[in-house]
Amino acid sequence: MKKLLFAPLLLLLLASCHKNFDSFKQEFTDKLWATYPAYATQQGYHKYDSVLLIPDAAERNNELAFADWTNSELKNFKFEELGANDKTDYRMIQLYADGIRFNINDFKSYEWDPSSYNLGEGIFDIMDYKGESTDQKLRALTQRLKNAPAYFESAKQNIHNPTFEHTKLAIDQNNGSFYFFNSVFPDSLKTSKLTDAEKAEFNKNADAAKTAVQNYVTWLQQDVLAKADTNQMRSFRIGKKLYAKKFLLDIDSRYTAGQMYQKAEARKTELHNQMNLLADQLWPKYFDKTPAPTDTLDKIKQLIDKISEQHCQRDSFMATIEKQLPQLTAFINTHSIIDLDSTKPLKVRKTPEYAAGVAGAGINAPGPYDKDAVTYYNVTPLTAYSAEKAESYLREYNNYVLQILNIHEAIPGHYTQLIYANRTPDIVKTILGNGAMIEGWACYVERMMIEQGYAQSPEMQLFYDKWNLRETCNFLLDYNIQCNNLSKEQAMDLLVRQAFQQTAESEEKWKRATLSQVQLASYFSGLTEIYELREELKQQQGAQFNLKKFHEQFLSYGSAPVKEIRDLMLGTGK
Ligand code: ZN
Ligand code: ZN
Repeated sequence: MKKLLFAPLLLLLLASCHKNFDSFKQEFTDKLWATYPAYATQQGYHKYDSVLLIPDAAERNNELAFADWTNSELKNFKFEELGANDKTDYRMIQLYADGIRFNINDFKSYEWDPSSYNLGEGIFDIMDYKGESTDQKLRALTQRLKNAPAYFESAKQNIHNPTFEHTKLAIDQNNGSFYFFNSVFPDSLKTSKLTDAEKAEFNKNADAAKTAVQNYVTWLQQDVLAKADTNQMRSFRIGKKLYAKKFLLDIDSRYTAGQMYQKAEARKTELHNQMNLLADQLWPKYFDKTPAPTDTLDKIKQLIDKISEQHCQRDSFMATIEKQLPQLTAFINTHSIIDLDSTKPLKVRKTPEYAAGVAGAGINAPGPYDKDAVTYYNVTPLTAYSAEKAESYLREYNNYVLQILNIHEAIPGHYTQLIYANRTPDIVKTILGNGAMIEGWACYVERMMIEQGYAQSPEMQLFYDKWNLRETCNFLLDYNIQCNNLSKEQAMDLLVRQAFQQTAESEEKWKRATLSQVQLASYFSGLTEIYELREELKQQQGAQFNLKKFHEQFLSYGSAPVKEIRDLMLGTGK
């Protein structure tokens, strides 16, 4: 009997000899898109635009089967025998499969987060795609919208005792999708060359879909919210156990969430001490002989408010950013910080209409299927702001902080990391890119540039510390809200009094922290692990250590988790 049992195993091993890791990755990606068509569309892969999956139990079983298939395929490869590039992919794919099981079996947000059901985002990604004609898009949407009534029926079946916060969000977001039904679709139909029959079918499906959205919103308002005692609804706090697991899966840290929390607490104290010294040094320059307040936080706050008056005018906001980028490039080149690809200049532009609403500045990166497209630095001009709001924004992004923002978003932050990531040959690292590595890099370079002496002054150091304090407090906020029952009042004290943030900004942050979990922890976690890795290598290599080489090697692995990059750089991987 035993012999017989071994036979299939042997066959499996023989079969695996013929398959290389590259073809496995290709197969994995194909199956990934077939299993998650919405994710495919979002990543710029448009083969499945016409598909809207019904989120029922059968669909979840299908996801679990994909996770199982992935793990059994991975077993065909010996990790130690893979090259560096494949090793990180192996880990990322493994983690992804673990994440699928966690989401379905443990996290179960499909039960308590009504905002996971929303047609708008998918439609936006399809309509925004430049590679297809309007007619092609409308044909895909005709098929997609057909499933909308069943999609929302299934959503209602899934939802049990949702959180108040996610229910509110779902109502807002689904209401937002009427924009497509009321203006985008009619406008697109007018310019399209669809036949009358095609137009009629589109309209029939769109009308049914619109009714389904309306019914869903009404159901959330009348059957869920109005009938529930808000205090009895499920808490948005996921608790220590789920948080710990989600932290390990999302961040792929070498530390537990609890260990990282200790590091964040220590960093906050360190920053407060450093800011206190800087405040003593700067006080006479700005307040002459006026005695400083005895309360440390109060003293720092008054100084920050005073120095924040040094900001650009609202009509020169964009020009100021444009002027600062070549200064950053020059500094990076003369200080041998990292090789910047001069063939791919970053284009600063006014944020396009559809992406507006998000204040400030951010990188608009091309997706993995569109690598050669231009990367834009979107800057939202402050023209739509009231005078008061613009002033508050400009004080926040004053002459010092604006430079840190440019480092983070552009050079050598997100933009530079993206250029390096696009050089890696395969797509897995981009599709499954690690958020803590990506945000961690942007936060790490802020600290590194300041250490290297960029725009050196006590003021710059003070505002870097404030910025870093915000990253640190994002972690503390997230962890304490999800695991330690932090109240809104305590959260506001942390952000406003201890981290010197504006009340309006802190209110927004609180709202965000009630809707997401672990994401706010990624900045501090990523930064900490990259920084530690650098210090470790410095120790190891002594005089041989070269900062430029470190940066270039670190980025050469694509957007892999810092822990996996560390293993490869230190040769500690199993
Ligand atoms: Zn002002
Ligand atoms: Zn960022």
